[in-house]
Amino acid sequence: MLLNNVCETFNVVIRDARDKPILTQMEWIRRIEWAARHYIEQVLRGDSYEVELNGDTVLVDLGKRTCTCYHWQLTGIPCVHGFACILDKRVDPEDFVDVYYTRDTYMYAYEEVVKPMPGPKHWEKNHLREPLPLTVRVIPRRPK
Ligand SMILES: [Zn+2]
Repeated sequence: MLLNNVCETFNVVIRDARDKPILTQMEWIRRIEWAARHYIEQVLRGDSYEVELNGDTVLVDLGKRTCTCYHWQLTGIPCVHGFACILDKRVDPEDFVDVYYTRDTYMYAYEEVVKPMPGPKHWEKNHLREPLPLTVRVIPRRPK
């Protein structure tokens, strides 16, 4: 599930370039960085920024990891506005990506052993002809 979410989020971020050859994708990602470097940022207070591009203005809060474009809150990955502020502050962009994308969280999610399973002939029959409820393992957030 986590791997699927990571893939889907990555696909959303590179949506415009995902059907292109790998070198074209890398060039597209490089251009995002170029675009981020050419945003107009203005520090409001502390970690709060006002970011402007092409007449559109958004508010970024690095401390809260939010942007009024909501891309950051939806994906857990800084949007181009947030990325511009991160570059301005000269800090590591990876520190602003949600903890769900870390190797530690991935390892924690998959630390349980996958149990062996009998063949279909021995599976529990569903006489209701409706899907059985799923058993979901909730992964609590761990502090960084
Ligand atoms: Zn944004």
